[in-house]
Amino acid sequence: MGILAGKKGLILGIANDKSIAWGVTQACKREGAELGFNYLGEMLEKRVRPLAESVDATFIEPLDVSDDTQMDDFFAKVEQQWGHLDFMVHSIAFANKDALRNRFSTTSREDFRLALDISAYSFIACAQRAAPLMKAGSSMVTMTYLGAERTVPGYNVMGVAKAALEASTRYLAQDLGPDGIRVNAISAGPIRTLAASAVGDFRKLMEKSARGSMLKRNVTQDEVGNTAAYLLSDMASGVSGEVHYVDAGFHIGVGDPGIE
Ligand code: NAP
Repeated sequence: MGILAGKKGLILGIANDKSIAWGVTQACKREGAELGFNYLGEMLEKRVRPLAESVDATFIEPLDVSDDTQMDDFFAKVEQQWGHLDFMVHSIAFANKDALRNRFSTTSREDFRLALDISAYSFIACAQRAAPLMKAGSSMVTMTYLGAERTVPGYNVMGVAKAALEASTRYLAQDLGPDGIRVNAISAGPIRTLAASAVGDFRKLMEKSARGSMLKRNVTQDEVGNTAAYLLSDMASGVSGEVHYVDAGFHIGVGDPGIE
């Protein structure tokens, strides 16, 4: 019996088998959960559906988190099909590439709005629709990055979005806590994914992160997945409002001063 046996959970944000959400999926499947997924448009359905079916998903529906009608439809279908939810993983972010490449001081109002909407507000929007389907003991997890609290070259407006996401995690934990629902964030070290490719000079960032970390290496999507499975399970019943680092200890150090 796995630590998620008998639980039904949504994992939002699989783009392909490199996605952090795919690492989470494999851990949750191994621990016995029944899983549901979203995909963003028909193009993505072709990639997500086979992955979802390979873990016996019982729920696979379209969802663009920037569209309130799709949000309502998606969660109405969850209720229809499953009746209730035990956990939800939010592993979604987006920013215009130009906003990450250009000087931060030139960020446009529209690029700011887009990054904050999809990468931070969407967690609140999902939580407000998932919570009514959850009973005490349920759990939500989102994915963040150190750029929320320290400056990271090339992370720019996404750092501001992650700061909003981390604060939203704490306020959701406060708001949903009396209902017995726990809300946490995982701050993952850099992992090569589709979203990560938008961050300028990601190769250098990975190199610096490995050298500056306590374990002298980067982390894997499986390590993030295992931590998510723990936070979603009853093993973490006393943990809420936390930003939990899975970064091989990078955040406690000062980096490697020898590296450019
Ligand atoms: P990923 O595989 O590209 O996942 C990002 C997901 O967000 C994709 O499935 C993407 O779908 C989805 N998405 C974007 N806009 C959306 C929208 N409007 N509606 C629904 N879904 C949307 O990259 P990832 O690295 O695994 O990212 C997952 C999360 O981990 C993100 O929050 C990211 O910031 C965070 N994180 C990543 C790292 C890292 O180094 N990779 C480190 C720390 C935290 P499309 O591909 O179809 O756009």
